[in-house]
Amino acid sequence: MNNKLYGNLIFELSHPGRRAYSLPENRFGHHPLPDACRRAKDAELPECDEMTVVRHYTNHSENNFGVDNGFYPLGSCTMKYNPVINEEISSLKAFTDLHPQQPVETVQGALEVEYNIQRALASITGMADVTLNPYAGAHGELTGLMIITSYHQQRGDTKRTKVIVPDSAHGTNPASAAVCGLEVVEVKSTPEGLVDVNDLRPLLGDDIAGMMMTNPNTLGLFEKDIPEIAKLVHDCGGLLYYDGANLNPLLGAARPGDMGFDVIHLNLHKTFSTPHGGGGPGSGPVGVCEKLIPFLPKPHVIKTKEGFAIEDCRLTEEYSTADNRIGGYLGNFLIILRAYTYILSLGRNHIKEVGPLATLNANYIKECLKDDYELPIDTLCKHEFVFDGLKDKSTGVTTMDVAKRLLDYGYHAPTIYFPLLFHEAMMIEPTESESKDTIDGFIKTMHVIAKEARETPELVKEAPHSTPIGRVDDVLAAKHPILTYRQLIHDMESEE
Ligand SMILES: *Cc1c(COP(=O)(O)O)cnc(C)c1O
Repeated sequence: MNNKLYGNLIFELSHPGRRAYSLPENRFGHHPLPDACRRAKDAELPECDEMTVVRHYTNHSENNFGVDNGFYPLGSCTMKYNPVINEEISSLKAFTDLHPQQPVETVQGALEVEYNIQRALASITGMADVTLNPYAGAHGELTGLMIITSYHQQRGDTKRTKVIVPDSAHGTNPASAAVCGLEVVEVKSTPEGLVDVNDLRPLLGDDIAGMMMTNPNTLGLFEKDIPEIAKLVHDCGGLLYYDGANLNPLLGAARPGDMGFDVIHLNLHKTFSTPHGGGGPGSGPVGVCEKLIPFLPKPHVIKTKEGFAIEDCRLTEEYSTADNRIGGYLGNFLIILRAYTYILSLGRNHIKEVGPLATLNANYIKECLKDDYELPIDTLCKHEFVFDGLKDKSTGVTTMDVAKRLLDYGYHAPTIYFPLLFHEAMMIEPTESESKDTIDGFIKTMHVIAKEARETPELVKEAPHSTPIGRVDDVLAAKHPILTYRQLIHDMESEE
């Protein structure tokens, strides 16, 4: 069996009795666990020698694609370079060996990191204070919305059960609102792709808890009517929420706090480097304006005369995020540490270059490719933009085909068929970390694929040709999920 073969599970390489370890002889005698604590049957674990294990996982890792393999222009995800120093710092044993329940005197360094990044993020976003507790962007959204509802409830303003969400929002926005028990009211976009202020006005009233906005929005456009929107939402008594998952292009250019936002979440695992994807560990800090500080969830790191301390739940009777946890301890500490390293290594001056460079790169690609690819909203974009497939629709080559063909050329595909506003959406985000050579190489390849689509469309429609497996059935796994190994073996046997 070819050990490069996909789907080769470590279980299939197992031989009873093989071992990859040898434990020292037991000097303390045999003390069996009481029967009540023992499994009825031994766990079915793979039994392999060390070389088999190492090769198995090394070969699988070679079938993977990451930022370290090649250009990864996945829109709305900010797949930027993750500096190696982040990994070095976050692997220091002084950090990895900490326990969240250690006495605070023994973890002053870790608390200082948390406190400092709380302050750094507050300063970058223009908010008064920040909680690092949420574990992902969506978790940050939920936390932020809970802060908003806590605020209204504590004022006895119990009518506010609705939240306004733009039709172009990331799917997590309405989902988080629903989890928070809020009713979602959709506001439409203008043909230019921005929130339609005229559609917004009649939605506002004393039942509105707040409005969520993403800026730059899902089309990569700057919402230029924010001052007016902020005034309208505040005038009706609502609070304004900023989905800052994609803050990258704003770094050094503008601050949500200055625009009138009351709550913001950030995705450290996008804007502040740190590896992500595949559901890996994330971090979605939430920043709030002054009046919402009492509603930040606990625990929270504060600085006192004696050093850094943890403010914990007061556990009062009243319902409020102020007396609730939204996670176990102080967030995903090692992810926070990577982001802190990233912020410190760029420093106050260089972090300001991130936004403008990410914006320049995106606009450069957009302008170079818009003759071959349909650009439905032809305007200055921020860090990303959306094509609506190839310009020449007569070839029958779809966005899916272009995405698959890119794999043959060693590029990760852009985000496709999202946002849902266009049929053949292709969302490209280069980030600031790519060189001009890399970006030019991508542009050239996209031109080559457009030419292939005109001249040899079958070549594109049947791509990829060079990857270990060709086209997979996208919906099979969703419709017939096989979630256990035993099930897989069983099915394979019954097919024979
Ligand atoms: C990625 C993203 C989210 C969700 O973040 P997760 O960490 O995946 O939960 C929310 N909003 C926007 C605009 C995003 O791009």
